[in-house]
Amino acid sequence: GRITVGELADKMGVSASDVISKLIGLGVMATINQAVDTDIAKMLAEEQGFEVEVKVDTLEEKLVETEEDKEEDLRPRPPVVTILGHVDHGKTSLLDAIREANVTSQEAGGITQHIGAYQAEYNDKKIVFLDTPGHEAFTAMRARGAQVTDIAIVVVAADDGVMPQTVEAINHVKAADVPIIIAVNKIDKPNANPDRVKQQLAEYELIPEDWGGDTVFVDVSALKHTGLDTLMEMILLVSEMAELKANPDKPALGTVVEAKLDKGRGPVATVLIQDGTIEVGDSIICGTIYGKVRAMVDDRGNRIEKAGPATPVEILGLNDVAEAGDMLQVVTDDKMARQISEKRSDKRREVELKKSAKVSLDDLFSQIQEGERKDLNIIAKADVQGSVEALRESLLKLSNDEVRVQVIHGGVGAVTESDVMLASASDAIIIGFNVRPEPSARKMAEREDVELRLYRVIYEALEDVKAAMTGMLAPEF
Ligand code: GDP
Repeated sequence: GRITVGELADKMGVSASDVISKLIGLGVMATINQAVDTDIAKMLAEEQGFEVEVKVDTLEEKLVETEEDKEEDLRPRPPVVTILGHVDHGKTSLLDAIREANVTSQEAGGITQHIGAYQAEYNDKKIVFLDTPGHEAFTAMRARGAQVTDIAIVVVAADDGVMPQTVEAINHVKAADVPIIIAVNKIDKPNANPDRVKQQLAEYELIPEDWGGDTVFVDVSALKHTGLDTLMEMILLVSEMAELKANPDKPALGTVVEAKLDKGRGPVATVLIQDGTIEVGDSIICGTIYGKVRAMVDDRGNRIEKAGPATPVEILGLNDVAEAGDMLQVVTDDKMARQISEKRSDKRREVELKKSAKVSLDDLFSQIQEGERKDLNIIAKADVQGSVEALRESLLKLSNDEVRVQVIHGGVGAVTESDVMLASASDAIIIGFNVRPEPSARKMAEREDVELRLYRVIYEALEDVKAAMTGMLAPEF
């Protein structure tokens, strides 16, 4: 984690008020318990003649973290929901049905705007839905360090049953450790068979409550709008158990869910505010870009002055187009926003030059020895299901006291971009058996620094993993 003002002062043997006044000189307002941006801490310490070693955890490091929230300042906040599932199983239809049924537009004939997320209401409680369904978007955000989803709804068509992308979606959600609700859709169809879906999902440890498990299943028809109320109730129930909270009375933190360049309005970013409150006029930093909030528009197209936790808003006033997954933060003033932006751009270049924190078999052993790694996550792709299972079982058996080997996703077919994204987000390596990567996936693996190993003999894959775990892996030439 980051160092607080107090800790920094202690380490340097100076008083906290010295540190605070130095920080003010740099345009940073901070109190003794506040965490200081790593770069700024480093700068201060180096000024005092200290040598500083910085461990870079994530690219999107927050700059000045607001003080730990006091329990009494925390308020319950609405859940943020993403819908995933196999193509054509009804993700978009379900999002549209919920929007029609549960978004009250105040204006006569009011048309809801597509801004990337919307807020629905049920029994006076709010629920936020991300409007880009699918696990690609979900995991792409995670690969950038952004976790915005509180609950994942996996849609399975009752006539079609569990399909490859259903399994993929489930594994992506499990890797993110987000609670799952299964929406069994298209129950209006004559050949709908919701029981078969339940049976199929039991294989993935998703067992319905009426079968003694703890996974919530809801039968719905997005077409006929049946079961939507139950679905909303279940979302609220799962959300209550998660006790989601935020502090509305502090400068905002959020994540970009969509961004574009609008002809008339300039760069526009849809940001999901996750904590704190943002107001028109605030200075903001967003990834490596910055600006001042010139105007905000909500999901109904209304101009708004402020937005609190779990509100999606379009923000105008950034100096460039943001990227989905970028973190937005309100800072004290424009000068600070600009400075941070410059520093981050430098840092991003630096990090891109020496990306090394990712897992690879080559340095697995040293990471194990240094206690930095306890899990080896693997994505296993093969030409036939039997080989996927064989790989999975044999890989799991390689676990020892130091490292737990886990296959976070297994599937039949070429290695895809979605596999690479999942590997990147979950710090996994990919093992392909008798399959090739799609060309785009290979490029992405290089860009994301994900290790991709291809084999023709299962035994060789196992030998390599075993050797890597014990530091005996022969270097590759
Ligand atoms: P997505 O690819 O998962 O987003 O799926 P869509 O929402 O585009 O739906 C795929 C197709 O299934 C469309 O033709 C929908 O009209 C149809 N569909 C979606 N939900 C239902 C449903 O509840 N019942 C029936 N009968 N059809 C549905």
